Amino acid sequence: MALTTYNKKRNFKATPEPEGKEGKKSLFRFVVQRHDASHLHYDFRLELGGVLKSWAVPKGPSMNPEDKRLAVMVEDHPVSYIGFEGKIPEGNYGAGRVEIWDKGVFIPVNKELEEMTEQEALQALNKGELKIFLEGGKLEGEFILIRFKNDEKNWLLIKHKDEYAVSEKYDSEKLSKAISKKTVKKKK
Ligand code: MN
Repeated sequence: MALTTYNKKRNFKATPEPEGKEGKKSLFRFVVQRHDASHLHYDFRLELGGVLKSWAVPKGPSMNPEDKRLAVMVEDHPVSYIGFEGKIPEGNYGAGRVEIWDKGVFIPVNKELEEMTEQEALQALNKGELKIFLEGGKLEGEFILIRFKNDEKNWLLIKHKDEYAVSEKYDSEKLSKAISKKTVKKKK
């Protein structure tokens, strides 16, 4: 049961997060949720196999191919989590604010950049290397997820060189609406 761990970690009477139920055929959506928990990170999620395959990216994704972002695989999340934003109350697993940083669709592709089926994409993930083409608001173009050798959890999320790649320093926080909100002065 892919969502057992997700459900075990949470008390749905105390958190606004959705309860885990497995979904149907993938619509190949992705989401990046900025999660201001005990350690700020960005959760990168791909809709595959009836769940959201999920990684916690401490520095956030980057559009600069020079950056190799550590992406720690975490428990599968339910597909309904894709639209989740809100505050997970203190005392709950992952307490802190969750905001959608980016969302869109992805195309799993093979080495020849040909579109893969959902099943092929899941097999590629199991082998520890998945290439995807992202169509989001902030993230665009080719990316690769590569698992460290002899490691279950640690992956790298890397932008490939293409027309969407940037060469300047990329700071996910500067593109976060959470940051822009904090700078707005409220009238008393
Ligand atoms: Mn998280």
